[in-house]
Amino acid sequence: MIRTAFLTLAAAGLVTSASAAQEQEVYVETSDLGAGVYMLSTGRGGNVGLSVGEDGVFLIDTQFAPIAPYLDRAQRAVSGDRGVDMVLNTHLHGDHVLGNEYFAEAGAIILAHESVRPALENPVTAQLTGSTPDPLSGGFLPTVNLVGGETLTLNGQTVRLHHEPSAHTDGDIWVQFVEADVIHAGDLLFSGWFPYIDLDNGGTVEGFIAGMQAIADAAGPDTQVIPGHGPMSTKADLEASIAMLSESRARVAALVADGHDYQAVLDAEPLADFHDAWNWGFITTERMIWTLYRDITGEIPQR
Ligand SMILES: [Zn+2]
Ligand SMILES: [Zn+2]
Repeated sequence: MIRTAFLTLAAAGLVTSASAAQEQEVYVETSDLGAGVYMLSTGRGGNVGLSVGEDGVFLIDTQFAPIAPYLDRAQRAVSGDRGVDMVLNTHLHGDHVLGNEYFAEAGAIILAHESVRPALENPVTAQLTGSTPDPLSGGFLPTVNLVGGETLTLNGQTVRLHHEPSAHTDGDIWVQFVEADVIHAGDLLFSGWFPYIDLDNGGTVEGFIAGMQAIADAAGPDTQVIPGHGPMSTKADLEASIAMLSESRARVAALVADGHDYQAVLDAEPLADFHDAWNWGFITTERMIWTLYRDITGEIPQR
């Protein structure tokens, strides 16, 4: 079942000054994954997970502040108009945490890996879309600091929280709803797209591949995988991303081993056959090569 809500920021009075935002339309698409678990998507920030049941309302990631009220409205439509009790941030990026304050002020507690809170309080200044370069405080900050390996018993589900060190960032948590057979991968899966790997916040290519592999190992043929970005996915989509990224890394590493500098690697077009399927606006083929080169050499090439 897919339920789509069509709303506008201006109509709700959230934007009072004349701006392009007044014309913004926020669609929240609610996908029912069974057993009280849902995916909420807007196409603007990371995909949101939702578990609803007798124990409460559990939200995974909060997108951006102006979108949070729409996420809340969408979850209320399936939770019997209850508020959110608990939020988990899969990692530190702005498109996953900037709605936190909205839910915290309404009474939700916020969980994240223990590295997330200090990173939000003292962010690295990385000029990266979705990062949080301004310090955050108060209701934006997680108050339950996880190390990974925790298990929640919630809404009839065994909910396992897995930490991947040095993957998309250094604080990625992915979430497994065991009985529902649903996994929220956080940004360890950009399904069908070249992945963003945040080297400035502790991410590494090897760790990202290992993180995807850990999720694939936990998934079965029928597991529904919520990606951080992209459409509802499966174990096969994870395996395709693992194969693409592993091959891409090997090709760039071979060129580097042959003595190619960054420009020579670019000129060799090592990812040409992946371009049509995996290139997208944020992580272009060139930026994927840049990330791989930087990860392999430790140098930061000029772009
Ligand atoms: Zn994201
Ligand atoms: Zn991210």
